[in-house]
Amino acid sequence: MNKVANSEASTPRDREDRAPLLDVKGLTKAFRAPGWLGTGAAYRAVNDVSFAIGHGEIVALVGESGSGKSTIARMLLRLEPPTSGSIRFDGADVLTTEPRKASQAYRRRVQMVFQDPFGSLSPMHSVASHLEAPLSLLANVPKADIRTRSLALLTQVGLEPAAELVDRAPHELSGGQRQRVAIARALAASPDLLVADEPTSMLDVSLRSGVLTLLGRLREERGLSILLITHDLAAARHLSDRVLVLYRGRVVESGPSAEIVREPLHPYTRALIGAVTAERIAPSNGERPSEVAATPGGCAFAPRCVDRHDRCDASDPALALVRPDRLVRCHLHPSTPERPES
Ligand code: ADP
Ligand code: MG
Repeated sequence: MNKVANSEASTPRDREDRAPLLDVKGLTKAFRAPGWLGTGAAYRAVNDVSFAIGHGEIVALVGESGSGKSTIARMLLRLEPPTSGSIRFDGADVLTTEPRKASQAYRRRVQMVFQDPFGSLSPMHSVASHLEAPLSLLANVPKADIRTRSLALLTQVGLEPAAELVDRAPHELSGGQRQRVAIARALAASPDLLVADEPTSMLDVSLRSGVLTLLGRLREERGLSILLITHDLAAARHLSDRVLVLYRGRVVESGPSAEIVREPLHPYTRALIGAVTAERIAPSNGERPSEVAATPGGCAFAPRCVDRHDRCDASDPALALVRPDRLVRCHLHPSTPERPES
């Protein structure tokens, strides 16, 4: 697949030279869980997560349910404040107090597509009215042009005949069509970054690749950057340039998608790919795999790890650079000592 975004406007070389569109550093979210393990201790749903997304780049966040993916999305959308960490967008720190205008611009430029195409559209409003609000309020499209722009958006997301579908109510549409309306609504604001939180997981299997292909096409056509959130590494490989694998709120591996799938370094990534069967990583005592407690101070993945050894319970591995653009948090892969330039 051609992964070059909008080849006229931005070559991969340009993208390397420009500052990333989104730059997240040390993002952390602690929830106070009353009674969690009987202590009411703060629990870090997202723990020191850092990543960047370039202009026209697609980055995937991959992890099982409960790994903190949606919490990251909500913090990026400013629906929830982080406990700590920074979010820079187009060079500006978005979490520090900003003038109202800058904050409004961020809300327009970063749009979200939610998992549930049934819950995310109002049953009371037609497709047209779902598009009208962002077109007029966020993108300042004059009233006279709204209909034409709405039809163009529907056509762009593959909803045809647009003139017929635009006046329908959400309940008259299929799940796949609704998700396309949700994508059209996000595009109506003319965003630079789309955060898509499991956009296909509630769709019929037969409709999933169509929606993923649409997202890929929007990147090609509009130079859109996308954060694809998914539990499906195959979907991430299909669409994204780079992948971050999350386990219990932390990045355990990251790198170019093709490399991650061809040569996964972390035992959890290998499990996701299916190199290790799900049964082998599931605990035998009936607990949900994600709830098995790790030894305090040890690696969080150790209880499920087929490669576990003494060191894994004794110390928590750091996220280490094993080679350019490949990070992994595992004692099996200590970071390569720096070599003199050759
Ligand atoms: P994912 O999207 O990867 O399934 P989430 O980000 O939804 O994961 O959740 C990560 C963890 O944070 C889960 O253990 C979840 O129960 C917890 N969590 C999410 N939201 C809240 C909240 N508002 N209060 C307390 N815990 C929460
Ligand atoms: Mg989620």
